Amino acid sequence: MTQVYNFSSGPAMLPVDVLRRAQHDLCDWNGLGTSVMEISHRSKEFIQVAIDAEQDFRDLLQIPSNYKVLFCHGGGRGQFAGIPLNLLGDKKTADYIDGGYWAHSAVKEAHKYLTPTVFDAKVTVDGLRAIKPMSEWQVSDNSAYLHYCPNETIDGIAIHETPDFGDTVVTADFSSTILSQPLDVSRFGAIYAGAQKNIGPAGLTLVIVREDLLGKAHKSCPSIIDYTVLNDNDSMFNTPPTFAWYLSGLVFKWLKEQGGVAAMDKINQEKADLLYGVIDNSDFYRNDVAPANRSRMNVPFQLADSALDKLFLEESFAAGLHALKGHRVVGGMRASIYNAMPLEGVKALTDFMVNFERRHG
Ligand code: PMP
Repeated sequence: MTQVYNFSSGPAMLPVDVLRRAQHDLCDWNGLGTSVMEISHRSKEFIQVAIDAEQDFRDLLQIPSNYKVLFCHGGGRGQFAGIPLNLLGDKKTADYIDGGYWAHSAVKEAHKYLTPTVFDAKVTVDGLRAIKPMSEWQVSDNSAYLHYCPNETIDGIAIHETPDFGDTVVTADFSSTILSQPLDVSRFGAIYAGAQKNIGPAGLTLVIVREDLLGKAHKSCPSIIDYTVLNDNDSMFNTPPTFAWYLSGLVFKWLKEQGGVAAMDKINQEKADLLYGVIDNSDFYRNDVAPANRSRMNVPFQLADSALDKLFLEESFAAGLHALKGHRVVGGMRASIYNAMPLEGVKALTDFMVNFERRHG
């Protein structure tokens, strides 16, 4: 069978060692003669899974002790509501930095609960898409928090700067970049990420929130996304997505074995350099994001002749390189190269691209 590399943007590929481990344990987990999916979330066995996963996640990101980690439902979009419902307090507005599709989607949801103050950070520099530097972002006086998205999964745009906004509560959607590099959690009030890219399977969403921000939820906030309720109940206010939690725990252990986020940072840079290098060294492929804002996780690229798109997708799929079709709003191609994508996968893609260009360029 051809070796398959899956470049899906999410749900995305998982480390094969993790899948094998889960497969091995599926019908008889922990010698219980049943799977982990079929036991109570309140059993001592599952509670141990939950505790270990949280501890490993905390270790990986060196999360300070005054931050709570919540294992939630509802995905990234759930947190587009969760952030305002939990953090607006008695304020009427919050600052939203619009840097792309997902940041903009968060603004749309926020309109249900407040009047967001939106700062359009998108800019074109020398014909390339870029983001205005943080020093130019405007923060209003009466704002409850600032929200931004450091990695735009669809646009392929990343904000690599670390925020430094004094007392402003900074919140961020890390759905497509969490665990791919070290992160200074102390710069944020709240961070959230849907699991289905760098954490585990879909169905789980992680929230990291500073404890002094708890207790401010709007009275109409559904209990299921109320950070205080979730925290008071160890993320088991209702039945959590137990299998996703367990599998994410295996991913955290795998990450630790790889050398943690510092090791991931290095290899993710190597993968991105390899892929952007091939794109930049050719007139056949193009990426129109300014180098300073290029995403290391999601690499959109266009073929100079879009008439070849279909053939590129057919041939790449046949070569075992799956899910390279760009998002419908952008077109072209997109390679998502999260933590689980090995360097060999990116090498296989770049070899294919060079070969395709040779034949069709
Ligand atoms: N934010 C970002 C950055 C995303 O990439 C996505 C999904 N691709 C979302 C939010 C929405 O996530 P979900 O589908 O889990 O609601």
